[in-house]
Order: sequence, then structure tokens, then C-alpha cells
Amino acid sequence: SHRIMLGPLVAAIDQGTSSTRFLVFNSKTAELLSHHQVEIKQSFPKEGWVEEDPKEILQSVYECMERTCEKLTQLNIDISNIKAIGVTNQRETTLVWDKETGEPLYNAIVWLDLRTQSTVERLINKTPGRNKNHLKHKTGLPISTYFSAVKLRWLMDNVDEVHKAVVSRRAMFGTVDSWLIWCLTGGKSGGVHCTDVTNASRTMLFNIHTMDWDPELCKYFGIPMEILPRVRSSSEIYGLMKICSSRKSGALSGIPISGCLGDQSAALVGQMCFQDGQAKNTYGTGCFLLRNTGVKPVMSEHGLLTTVAYKLGRDKPACYALEGSVAIAGAVVRWLQDNLGIIGSSEELEKLAASVGTSYGCYFVPAFSGLYAPYWEPSARGIICGLTQFTNKSHLAFAALEAVCFQTREILDAMNQDSGIPLTQLQVDGGMTSNKLLMQLQADILCIPVVKPSMPETTALGAAMAAGAAEGVSVWSLNPEDLSEVTSEKFEPQINPEESEFRYARWKKAVEKSMNWET
Ligand code: ADP
Repeated sequence: SHRIMLGPLVAAIDQGTSSTRFLVFNSKTAELLSHHQVEIKQSFPKEGWVEEDPKEILQSVYECMERTCEKLTQLNIDISNIKAIGVTNQRETTLVWDKETGEPLYNAIVWLDLRTQSTVERLINKTPGRNKNHLKHKTGLPISTYFSAVKLRWLMDNVDEVHKAVVSRRAMFGTVDSWLIWCLTGGKSGGVHCTDVTNASRTMLFNIHTMDWDPELCKYFGIPMEILPRVRSSSEIYGLMKICSSRKSGALSGIPISGCLGDQSAALVGQMCFQDGQAKNTYGTGCFLLRNTGVKPVMSEHGLLTTVAYKLGRDKPACYALEGSVAIAGAVVRWLQDNLGIIGSSEELEKLAASVGTSYGCYFVPAFSGLYAPYWEPSARGIICGLTQFTNKSHLAFAALEAVCFQTREILDAMNQDSGIPLTQLQVDGGMTSNKLLMQLQADILCIPVVKPSMPETTALGAAMAAGAAEGVSVWSLNPEDLSEVTSEKFEPQINPEESEFRYARWKKAVEKSMNWET
């Protein structure tokens, strides 16, 4: 245990929708020692389409590693103290590459992408009783544009290179975790093609009871099983880092990659929600509320997903979660900035909204990618209503923040109904939680306290914990008694519940309109 005294370090790659980060933690204290972050470009080639460049994603990881290693050297921290690397990633985003050339065969289709809407409608129409939950008993998921299977199907049907590579057995499919682990462990010269159970559970090809790819589901979507990565637990050694030795980050070569969790699972682990009933809500590009349901998958009656929360070791049991997913949260901030130009940066939003402190009766439903939980309505579209001559951009900014809070309220209500035990406070994290006005509004709209850890990088922390706890690494204990205490900030509700209910009822009316505005 003198190794523990030296304070072994564990790193995490956090590849999110809007940015990539590389972070290094002290496994003894969970303290964040150094990190670097790089933004990721998103392209919108057609209405409803969202893509990212797989090579840019990979380069951003290298860039973050290089810069972080430089920072560590400046801090006089020996890079060789890093004992393991964990990976956490945007989920569902779908890639296909050629295993012989190592080249991606198309851009990554991002989870938010709507190009498969007509396919999804066709699939649902073919089910008995037009039931979008036709595959839910196996997958925990409704048939939706959100998950990987339909995106992969689209690639095989519409991209010639993908089709050819599949036929000639050169194609590899993966979500972002698989792409990164394959590249980082050697790529075309011996890279490891794997994924973890949490990422696999978001493809719609994975059976969450048997914990493996499901031949029937693969047949249903027409996906050849040989292109799928091997499914592993979330905490075990998958392979060793191979990185060019001429760089600072070359010192990372040979370090095991030993943790892998989809971002929302990683946040659940990073927030230490290991007990049945514990929950967290993450505010990033979208918003994701997950509640641990222990070793039993619970099927929702209220539009939530059943998903694999984590499996922290080959011989450990899988734990499940109920999940409420909201497609657009931080993405609405980016939209106000890039599409309307009413703010210059996401930080400006808070000041603008705070300058009025009310939406003045304006409601903004940002259903840009349809509506996810609890509605699962791909044809919904964004709507702004309640405008008057008096409304200005500050009110709109406030309405955008409120939209994030109302959407969370909807999934929290669904969660409380499903479990029968209401949450008495909400643990939160993610990029948007730096917005204090948002946090206060959230407490006001939920009528329960909102608790935010002072170390905001909980997603990366969760991936680092999984990597550090892996068999053969074992520098991080996941025993709750050994885990360091987290300090946090608490936001208490400040408005009366009647006021809150009134605004929430108005919001619901606006949501109705966003789903029916065409008819
Ligand atoms: P992801 O993991 O999806 O990439 P992050 O957790 O990194 O997301 O959060 C980034 C998102 O949070 C962006 O959409 C950004 O617009 C939003 N965001 C960041 N800071 C603020 C802020 N101060 N106020 C409102 N939104 C913010």
C-alpha cells in the first residue's frame, strides 16, 4: 500500500457532444489535478441532421492529452504516476470505419440526429397496435431516432462505402467509446474492438436481461452481428494505450484503458449514486435524469427508459437505472448564440436572463429534435408562445432557461410516479450547472432543493473511478466507506408552490402545441 501513499493518479477521457476533455485525478482524494478541454464542431448538413467528424473527435482527444501532460509537467507531477485511463462518451452517436485502413466511412451521426424519422415511423406502423414500445421488453427503449440501430441501418442503406465494407467484411461499427478505444489501443494494427454494457444498452441491439447482443434484434434491424464490438463490463482492462513516443503524451503509452461508461452512467458513478433509489440530473447538450434501481431492471409506465447503469467488473452484477432523457438543454443556449446571435457566449445568458428575472409569460419549447421523455414524439417541433409587444431578448433568454427546468420537472414527475417514492432533493452536474440562475430556477420549479457538487467534473470522475477500480489496477476503492466526502452547494426553493404550479401548467399547454401545431 505504499503505492497508495504515493497517490496513484487516474485519468479520464470525457468525449461529450459539445467538447472533449482529458482530466487527471488523485485516486486517494478524488481531487482534479489538471485537465484540458477542446470544443467539437457539429455540422447540420440538412434540416434535422447532426454530424461530427470522427477524426476531429480523435484528434481532440490527442490534443487534450498532450496539453494535460504539459500542464502536469509544469506542476512537477510525474506522468508515470497515472495508473489507468477511463473513457466516458456521448452515447448512441454512431460510427462505422474500415478495419483495414482505419478510416471512418462517414461522419459520426450524432444522437440528436432526426434523419431516421421516416424509418422509425415505418417501423412503428408495422408493429401490432402501432406500438413504439414493441421492443421495450428486451431493450428497455422505445423505437426512436435516438438510438444507434436505426442510424446504423441508415448508413448501410445510404452510404455506398459503408455498404461495401459490410459486404466485404471490413466494416466495424461502434459508438464513440468503441472508436476511441480501438484507435488508442493500436487501430488498424491490433486495436481492441469493444464497448461496455452501458453504451451497448443504448444501441437497441442489446438485450438488457441476457447482457449480450440479441440475434433477434439484429435481425429485426438487419444488422450483421460480426460488425459489432465485443461487449465488456464497465471496469476491466480492455487494452493498453499506444501513443506516439515523440510527444509529451507519449508517456501515456502502455497505461491500461480500464474503465468505460456512457456519460450518463459515468455521472451516476461520479455522484456516488450506488444505492437503489439514488438519482442525479446532468445538464449538458441535453438533460438526463437517472435513478439507480439496483440489480433489477424496472420498466417505466410513464415514458422513461430502462438502461444499464453500470457493471463495475467482470464478476460484478449489472445495476440498472430508470432514465428520463431530454434532447435539448444546453443546445438551446448554443442555438440562441449561433442561430439568433442574442448572446456572444453561454456565460452571457445568465446575465441577460437575470436582467429581467422573468419570461413575462413567454414559453419556449425547444423541441428541435422532436420531444424525448416522457413523450417520445419525433414530429414535435420548437415553439415560442405568449409573445407581446413588450417581450424582448432577455425574456426569451429567461424562457430558454425555464424550458430546461420545466423539462426536468416533467421527467422528475414521471420518475416519482414510476417509483412511488418522490425524490426529496436533486443531485445535479454538467456544463450548464455553472449557471446559478438556472440552478435557483430549477429548485423553484421542482419545489425541492438542488444540490451541486463543488467539483463539477463528475462524469469524468466516474470514468476515472471505474478505471482505477478495475482488476489488475486496483488503485481506487469503490467501497462507499472509503470514498472521499464531496462538498456541495445547495439551492433551496424560494417561490411559493402555487406560483410554480401555475407556470408549470402553462408550460404543459405550450408542449401540447409543440406536438400538434401542424394539425
Ligand atoms: P456535453 O457533455 O453534452 O458536451 P457539457 O456538460 O460540457 O455538455 O455542457 C455544455 C453545454 O452547457 C453547452 O450546450 C453549453 O451551451 C451549456 N452551458 C455551458 N455554460 C453555460 C452557462 N453558464 N449557462 C448556460 N448554459 C451553459
